[in-house]
Amino acid sequence: MRMVMLGAPGAGKGTQARLVSTKYGAVHLSMGSILRHEVAEQTEIGRSIRGTLSKGDMVEDGIVNMIIENQLQRYESVILDGYPRTLLQAQHLDRYLKEHPPVLDVVFLLELAVDSVIHRLSGRRVCDRCSKTYHIQFYRLERCPCGGHLIQREDDNPETIRHRMEVYQAEIKPLRDFYEQCGLLYPIGADQSVEGIFADISEVLDGIILPKM
Ligand SMILES: [Zn+2]
Repeated sequence: MRMVMLGAPGAGKGTQARLVSTKYGAVHLSMGSILRHEVAEQTEIGRSIRGTLSKGDMVEDGIVNMIIENQLQRYESVILDGYPRTLLQAQHLDRYLKEHPPVLDVVFLLELAVDSVIHRLSGRRVCDRCSKTYHIQFYRLERCPCGGHLIQREDDNPETIRHRMEVYQAEIKPLRDFYEQCGLLYPIGADQSVEGIFADISEVLDGIILPKM
C-alpha cells in the first residue's frame, strides 16, 4: 500500500503516520526527519539546506525528489509524510510511480484551522532521541521515557509558524485539487483527538484494503 499524508504543520501527520505504520505495516517516510538527519550528520545535502529549514522555507524540489526516489526503491509499502509539498513534486511523484509501480492508493488531508495550528505547535516539544512529540499543555515531563531530552524544534516558534502556515496555505490548494482530480483525496477533520483522527483514517484504509483481499 502506498499513501500520502498531507496536512497543516501540527495537524498530527507524523503521529498518524506512525499509527498507520504500526497497524498496517507500511514504512513511515518522514521528509522532515530525513532532512533534519542530514543536517545533524552535516552531510553535503545537510549543509546546503540548513538555512532554508531554520527559516521554515521549503527545500528545493530537486533535492526532495531525489531523496524520495531513493526511499521508494527500497520500500514497496510506504506512508509519505512531508512529501509532496508542491504541485510540481506531486506531478513528479505521479510520473515516477507510473514508471515504478505500485502507484498511490490514497491521499489523506488532515484539516486544521490556523489558530489551532499555532496553539499546537508553539507548545510542542520533540524527543531528540526517538522523535516522539509531546504538548506542554498535557505533559510536564523533563525527559522522554526513552531517556531522550525534550527540545523545542528550531522552527516551532510563533513567528516562524505563521510564516510556515502562509507557505502551507499557498501550496496546499493546487495539491488538494490535483489529488481530488485523481480521485485519491480523503479529507480528515484533525480538530479531534489522536484516536478520533486515527479511527477515521482506519475506516478509509479498511475500505480500501478489504476489497483487495
Ligand atoms: Zn524519546
